[in-house]
Amino acid sequence: MADQGYRSWVEVSRERIAENYRVLKQAAGRGAELMPVVKADAYRHGSVEVSKVLEREGARWLAVSSVDEGCVLREAGIEARILVMADFLPCERVALLDYRLTPVIHSLTDIEALNTLSQQRGTETAFHLKIDSGMGRLGTRSEPDEIVQTIRANPGVTLEGVMTHFASAADYASPQTSNQIQRFRFICDSLSSAGIRPRYVHLSSTIPLAYGRREAWGNLIRPGHAIYGYVSPSRGEAPPLAVQVRPALTWKASILAIKEIPEGALIGYGGIYRAPRPLRIAVLAAGYADGIPHRLSNRGRVIAGGKLAPILGAVSMDVTTIDISHSPPLRTGDGVTLLGTEGDVTIDAQQIAKTAGTISYSVLCGISARVKRVYV
Ligand SMILES: *Cc1c(COP(=O)(O)O)cnc(C)c1O
Repeated sequence: MADQGYRSWVEVSRERIAENYRVLKQAAGRGAELMPVVKADAYRHGSVEVSKVLEREGARWLAVSSVDEGCVLREAGIEARILVMADFLPCERVALLDYRLTPVIHSLTDIEALNTLSQQRGTETAFHLKIDSGMGRLGTRSEPDEIVQTIRANPGVTLEGVMTHFASAADYASPQTSNQIQRFRFICDSLSSAGIRPRYVHLSSTIPLAYGRREAWGNLIRPGHAIYGYVSPSRGEAPPLAVQVRPALTWKASILAIKEIPEGALIGYGGIYRAPRPLRIAVLAAGYADGIPHRLSNRGRVIAGGKLAPILGAVSMDVTTIDISHSPPLRTGDGVTLLGTEGDVTIDAQQIAKTAGTISYSVLCGISARVKRVYV
């Protein structure tokens, strides 16, 4: 609760990140290596700090979304292999190679373009090929014989990995994951028959690892969410969770003002909350510009002095008002917990997401850049 000198800040536990990594590594066993995903600034936990922890723990691969994200890590001295997963623009190809990033290629014409550039530079470039096995997003939908032909025709680049991504991994009631595995296996088997056997085969992110769906692991697994301590709930008849991870991030905001308001007073934009009785309210130094979902207006809660405190009225851009009538005495400058644990009360990203009608990933990634980050 002590005054941290910030309006709003997150505390990220390096030890939790390391612990979660170890738990996942143990679950993956010897057959599959981990490639932790640190895209989107490590789901806002801070990609440089998180990558340093993971490198220290022995991670040899990291995954990001964009060339920019990879450059940030290289400039911070990260030496692990870095896979760029969410494609790149033609103008980013040179930086990709300059920064020793490993591209995921999503179309056969991109293999040709990369081959040309590599030959011009006199370097050999390793790439991973993404197969659209049925998600209908990034990835090639070409048939195996076309893939084989293209790879043979472009000897300046090396197919180091072949990968896919699942659309409905958490939904055990849907056949989509099995269908995707089947399609992906067909492509891999066909490549193998043609003598093309890439070093890495990878399909899975957090969910298939956390629920022990081994047939979807390949020899490399790309967990993101679980590194940060989250596994989304499953649907259908899922096996029990095979891992226990814990959130690494706590999000706080300072109290700017405390006051007593009379019965009948309106609170915030639109006057959408009317005090049913006299209340003690606190105005917090964080709003939707810091990442508090606007949808928490009049329905979210925070932890103030160890007690749940409801959000009153509309979440504003820079401030949010809460009811602290039932909290122990608090003072201006005290911190309250927007996401995290105080004593035996916890609010995690999953709960916030549920209340706000979104997903936990979006809650974490929504914590904005102006929220200070502190490593503990
Ligand atoms: C984001 C992402 C991941 C990590 O997903 P989590 O659910 O956070 O584990 C893995 N692979 C790809 C292609 C991704 O885009």
